[in-house]
Parts: sequence; C-alpha cells; structure tokens
Amino acid sequence: MVDNIETDVVIVGAGPSALFTVFELGLLDIKVHLIDILPRAGGQCSELYPEKPIYDIPGHPTITGAGLIDNLLAQIEPFHPTFHFNQLVTELETLGTPEAPAFRVKTDAGATFTAKAVIVAAGGGSFQPKKPPIEGIELYEDKSVFYAVRKMEEFRDKNVIIVGGGDSALDWTLNLHPIAKRITLVHRRDDFRAAPHSVNAMRELVAAGKLDLRIGQIVGLSGDDGELSGAHFKAGKEDAVVIAAERLIPFFGLTMKLGPIADWGLNLNENLIPVDTAQFETNVPGIFAIGDINFYPGKLKLILCGFHEGSLAAQKVHRYVYPDKKLTFQYTTSSTNLQKKLGVQ
Ligand code: FAD
Repeated sequence: MVDNIETDVVIVGAGPSALFTVFELGLLDIKVHLIDILPRAGGQCSELYPEKPIYDIPGHPTITGAGLIDNLLAQIEPFHPTFHFNQLVTELETLGTPEAPAFRVKTDAGATFTAKAVIVAAGGGSFQPKKPPIEGIELYEDKSVFYAVRKMEEFRDKNVIIVGGGDSALDWTLNLHPIAKRITLVHRRDDFRAAPHSVNAMRELVAAGKLDLRIGQIVGLSGDDGELSGAHFKAGKEDAVVIAAERLIPFFGLTMKLGPIADWGLNLNENLIPVDTAQFETNVPGIFAIGDINFYPGKLKLILCGFHEGSLAAQKVHRYVYPDKKLTFQYTTSSTNLQKKLGVQ
C-alpha cells in the first residue's frame, strides 16, 4: 500500500452527492479521492433502493436508484476519480491554517491521505454491518469472523460458513465457492431474498454436492484465541450440532451509524453537521458537508439538494486548492475550455 496519498480533495462517502461533486470539482481541475465503507458507489441509492424508481431527479421523469448511480459514474468518467471502497474513514486531522487548510485523513484499512480540503458527504452515516446475536462473537471478529469480504485470499482452502439469504450472502457464496475448501450456506428459512439467478446457481451447486445448504441458525462458536474451529448450528427444536469451520461471514444487513465523524471537531446538531448555505463549509475552514449529513434552515434530504450543495462547495474549494487563480464562471454548453475537460471537443 502507498504510504500516503496526496490529493486536492478527499470526499468521505461515495453516495450521489459525492459523485456529482466530483463532476463540479473536475470542471475546476480539482483532483479527488473518494472513500466509502461500502464495496460500491451510490450510498443509499445502491444499498437501499437500487431497483426502485425515483421521480424527482431534474430532467429524469423516472430513473431507478442504480440507473442514477450508473449515469453519475458515466458523467464523472472524464475526471478519473479514485475510489477506495470497503474502508471506514476513522480520523480527520487538521494540519494547516484557516487561510491555507490542509488535512490528514486515515481509514481503518491503514490508508492515509493528505488533502487541501475535505468534503464530508456521509449521508446518514456509514453503513455498518448488523451483528448476529451470538455470545462472544467479538472475540473472533477480524480474525476468523468477517462482516465483509475484503480479501478473498482470507478464505482460500478454508471451511467457510456464510449466514444470510440476501444478495451479499448469495454473491459471496458463489464467488468464494471456487477457492474455499468447503462452503456451508446457513439461512433461517428455505426462501431467499437474493436475485433469482444467484439462488438458482446456489441450488445447482447444492444439488451437485459442491456446496452445503443448512436451514437453521448459528447459536454459538468454538475456537481459541480468536481462531474459529466450529460453529454451533441449530435447526428448529433439534439440539445444536457443530459444523467445522475456520471462517464465518454473517450477512445480517446494514445499519447507518454516524461513527467516527463525531470525533472530528465538527459542530454537530443532532448528529447532523451545520453548514453555511453560501459554501456549505463547516465550522472548520476547509471541511465541507453536503447531502443528507448537513444541516441548515430549510434543509431537505433530497438528492437534488446534495447536487446543488456540492456545486457551491466546489467554488470555495477552488480557492483553497488554487489560491492564486481567479475563478471565472462558465457554462458547459458554451465553454470550449470546459468541453475539452469533458473530452467532447
Ligand atoms: P448517502 O447516499 O447516504 O451516501 C453516504 C455514503 O457515505 C454511504 O455510502 C456511507 O457508507 C458513506 N460513509 C459515511 N460515513 C463514512 C465513513 N466514516 N467512512 C466511509 N464511508 C462513509 N431522495 C430523493 O431525492 N428522491 C427520492 O425519491 C428518494 N427516495 C428514497 C427512498 C428510500 C427508500 C430512501 C432510504 C431514501 C430516498 N431518498 C430519496 C433519499 C436519498 O437517497 C438521499 O437523500 C441521498 O442518498 C443522500 O445522498 P448522500 O450522498 O448525501 O448520502
């Protein structure tokens, strides 16, 4: 891993507000790295309602959550933003002065960034895994119990139990099946919420004897020093039996938590970050907050508001990144300069 990544701006979160802000920053020649704890871009749109139609995106009478994110990603393609997924931003340290801000950002995956401005686009907070009610599970976390797959190699040649019935559980059952020693999928009922093609693929592997499917629950764990040796499986009223396993991946859904943002020295108003409505800057010069995470009189938690807020924040960010350059307002329809940046000239 690179020791420290230097960039103009770090955006915390990769939801719709963050994505459109990359576009506005890109037009101003500002380089961006985005960090999200999720494995993909799109925030709530991707995670909570990818297939639902949205009816209040300007210019789109209807578009699904996933469709909107695909379009935003296509729109920012010319600016080549760098995404860092599966990482929680844990620390934000102020290094510079109010006139010339600089920040150090750290993630729980050990990545460090320095930037001239930080935009917090953290929505309702970071999506974090819901934990199953298994006594003592915390002793095994990050050693042999994982709530997300960050490195597939962790699971090579291991007996792996995956718990859950949604897309994440089924996708990882299918993805890890070729490299794991044996996969056991555990779900509390024989009915899956995941995409039908994934469920069919899983059932075919079970029928071919290449995968185990057990209907019931994991109620306990055995092992030493955080290294799992088996999980206690209980089906209905039957006694629990031990399934040998060195890895357990429970997928019990996600919950949104404010998390470490509360420790960054930012003023908070009921877990929201107050900002001014000219620049969407927080009480710390150089740190901005846009989208669902911010607060100001009249705030509406709508995607279109996040787009507007990011556009105005970008103007002030430009002053920090290019203190000696004058910013001239230009339209994309008529500016050949902007069109060159977009690759359409
Ligand atoms: P989010 O989409 O919440 O994205 C924030 C991202 O930041 C998340 O991915 C999160 O994991 C990440 N994050 C937070 N903290 C950290 C951290 N410390 N480290 C790493 N990552 C972090 N809006 C509309 O305008 N129209 C609608 O019709 C509409 N329908 C909706 C339907 C539903 C069911 C829901 C739940 C919401 C709906 N919304 C709608 C609201 C809309 O989805 C939100 O306004 C929008 O997603 C906010 O975008 P955002 O980028 O600010 O935050």
